[in-house]
Amino acid sequence: LTIMADTYRNVRVAGANDNIYKDECLYSFDNPESENGLYICMSTFRGVGKAHLERHCRNNPGKNVFLHILRRRKPAPIDVNVEPTKITKLAIGIEGGFDVNQSNRFIFEEKYSIYIHPDVTIPYPDEASQLPEFVKNSADAIIAADSAFLKEERSLMNATWNGEIRRITKHSQTLEQLVNGRKIPPSGWQCDQCELKENLWLNLTDGAILCGRKFFDGTGGNNHAAEHYYRTKYPLAVKLGTITAKGADIYSYDEDDMVEDPNLAVRLSHWGINMLKMEKSDRSMADLEIELNQKFGEASMIEEANSKLQPVHGPGTEAYY
Ligand SMILES: [Zn+2]
Ligand SMILES: [Zn+2]
Repeated sequence: LTIMADTYRNVRVAGANDNIYKDECLYSFDNPESENGLYICMSTFRGVGKAHLERHCRNNPGKNVFLHILRRRKPAPIDVNVEPTKITKLAIGIEGGFDVNQSNRFIFEEKYSIYIHPDVTIPYPDEASQLPEFVKNSADAIIAADSAFLKEERSLMNATWNGEIRRITKHSQTLEQLVNGRKIPPSGWQCDQCELKENLWLNLTDGAILCGRKFFDGTGGNNHAAEHYYRTKYPLAVKLGTITAKGADIYSYDEDDMVEDPNLAVRLSHWGINMLKMEKSDRSMADLEIELNQKFGEASMIEEANSKLQPVHGPGTEAYY
């Protein structure tokens, strides 16, 4: 079996800026776990299923050297001595967040070879000694690289799944604050309309302190903050007890979301609150949502993450404001 000297002339070693498409065939659903595995072109770094090798080589003359990846998964043995990871962040796929891939539940075994279309297969790394150095480097770089899919998924997750990253409110520059003489003490608050002393929201426009929504299970507030918004249309409220030097939970009623306000310190000082001196005394929205998600099952959250990468709307998670 002879391999011509110029067989590898188009093989490249992937750099940091190359996207490696090693998850799925460009033309079909073949992937490394498919029966025939996946072939990664060592020139273009595109993944190709067995049935489409001919087509790829026709369209890319001289680029017929592939790294073949065959992946098989087996359930990981369950170690009863290891505690499940504690979830501390409202996020998926990051340290302390939910493990979206559940990757630790499986063991993956991969077999590699260098395939030269149409008829040469060199098991890798078993027979690596017959390969030029740069071809080995190319194979190793493909094997070690984060796939293009994983890179994209990660950036999507960072954008949509880190529940602690919030959009800047559209009211940041324009929110009007009434001058009505009200000053808010640093602690000891109560709803302006009922006896509740926690789950309280400070409306940034008029300084009203009002309770949050009633939860689906009957606990929580008496809806006074939301009713106030429907009457006045004053859009921003800060959850008292979550204000610290780093920020606070701010809800925007008309944007229907938790938001950031870069001008928060100024807004709060209008009501006599020095952000730098405040300490956390009530549960943040992230705390509450993590508790709920744990209560209603990590499974449904992960399912939702896998299906559409949208923020969770589990039972009751919308019912706090
Ligand atoms: Zn109330
Ligand atoms: Zn939500």
